[in-house]
Amino acid sequence: MTESLHEHYAQVATSQPDKMDAFWMPFSANRQFKKKPRLLASAKGMFYRSVDGREILDGTGGLWCCNAGHGRDRITAAVSQQIETMDFAPTFQMGHPLPFLLAERLAAIAPDPLKHVFYTNSGSESVDTALKIALAYHRVRGEGQRTRIIGREKGYHGVGFGGISVGGLPNNRKFFGPLLPGVDHMRHTLDIARNGFSKGLPEHGIELAEDLERIALLHDPSTIAAVIVEPISGSAGVVLPPKGYLERLRELCTKHGILLIFDEVITGFGRVGKAFAAQRFGVTPDLITCAKGLTNGSVPMGAVFASNAIHDTFMNGPEGAIELFHGYTYSGHPLACAAALATLDVYAEENLFEKAIELGDYWEQKIHELRGLPNVIDIRNFGLIGAIELSSRPGAVGARAYDVFTTCFHDKDLLIRVTGDVIALSPPLILEKNHIDRIFGILAEAIRETA
Ligand code: PMP
Repeated sequence: MTESLHEHYAQVATSQPDKMDAFWMPFSANRQFKKKPRLLASAKGMFYRSVDGREILDGTGGLWCCNAGHGRDRITAAVSQQIETMDFAPTFQMGHPLPFLLAERLAAIAPDPLKHVFYTNSGSESVDTALKIALAYHRVRGEGQRTRIIGREKGYHGVGFGGISVGGLPNNRKFFGPLLPGVDHMRHTLDIARNGFSKGLPEHGIELAEDLERIALLHDPSTIAAVIVEPISGSAGVVLPPKGYLERLRELCTKHGILLIFDEVITGFGRVGKAFAAQRFGVTPDLITCAKGLTNGSVPMGAVFASNAIHDTFMNGPEGAIELFHGYTYSGHPLACAAALATLDVYAEENLFEKAIELGDYWEQKIHELRGLPNVIDIRNFGLIGAIELSSRPGAVGARAYDVFTTCFHDKDLLIRVTGDVIALSPPLILEKNHIDRIFGILAEAIRETA
């Protein structure tokens, strides 16, 4: 980017706030933001550059998506080349080679037997797609009475109507009417009283998986199509599965013929030390949703992995008939496919999926050194994910964490993410120990100064 563009953006940001009115920002306090904007202009490696020219260390991988760091030449080249070669091609009753090639590559890193890929453009679309596949699968097999879906409190599954229905964050649901019928929720697994300051997976809470049995029996298990959970939830403030919990969900799903969906939009592509959390935890769902890290955040793309059994059920119908009435104009978009293929190359060549295991212990040690700082009531970590939970300022949930966030950004050149009272961290997997030292050094200062 040229200096003059930098200057132009900086000017818009600082001296012409009226020019910022037209953009209705998503998931943002628009008026507050526009009084004191935080604007990024460029990015490379572990760093953003702000419009006022500061280097900002990225503690959040953009938004949990830039797992290989920013501005990766290989991805840039692949996308540039692709747009010159072919900007768009339909994938409805048509095709081009890239989505087929990419699906083979993705299937190779996905857990067995999830070897089929349906493309979307986002995590939200992946979730709605997975829910629809689950419902249609039962219907195609003659079990059309399986229409109920079970989610979980504190779950975040994007913002489509399916996703907010199975999701469990009240603010994301309450403005939008009755939502999908036939949805029930298990309790969440966050339990600071019993598991506070756990390192890695918490000890207590496996019994919460029995909520699935209770809900299944309440409605009759043969009416339940699917259960959807994030193996580790991010948007709710990093909620970890207690030891044995996911295994027990798997057992109960198998027992009752219920499909298990893992929403791996944030845990996919190396965040926890394997391609998918399913592999790290040794628990295999029937469907996996992903997005974000699939293209390193560079071009919007999501995907759903389906088990062979699910896929083959659809393929058993009469040949020549459309097997699933679902898809997006941009499913398998050439630019997204090119970006994803290059991203997978970078992940493989740099062994980035192993990074969360190699650096996990150091990350864990450093984040837990923040214990004892003012207002810190819990610290949670797994792989290269971290969360620091602060007590609420009376009458102002989230205000303390927000202060830490703005102090980090404006005064200390660190980008973190906050959700409610939780500071959440998910750095690019290319980080080194010195970045970890810097992230937690800055955070400690900011937590102290804002207390
Ligand atoms: N599922 C999970 C688990 C997520 O964390 C997110 C996004 N943070 C989504 C779905 C939605 O993804 P998107 O914003 O790309 O629609």
